[in-house]
Amino acid sequence: MINQLIEVALQCPYCWEEITLLVDGSIEIQEYIEDCEVCCRPIDFKVEIDDDGLAQVQVQAQLQHE
Ligand SMILES: [Zn+2]
Repeated sequence: MINQLIEVALQCPYCWEEITLLVDGSIEIQEYIEDCEVCCRPIDFKVEIDDDGLAQVQVQAQLQHE
């Protein structure tokens, strides 16, 4: 059982700045929305911890309904 924070470097889907995400390695599949620390727009994170304890992260821009 892995129980640690994994640091993942990602690019914001809006401003393409590099952002660092801390992922809880004890939760196998997680999905949440967090604001980009650079442009403050909401990013949809999908995180999966694989068998090797590595975090596979997908980032998606929130769809705008305006
Ligand atoms: Zn951003």
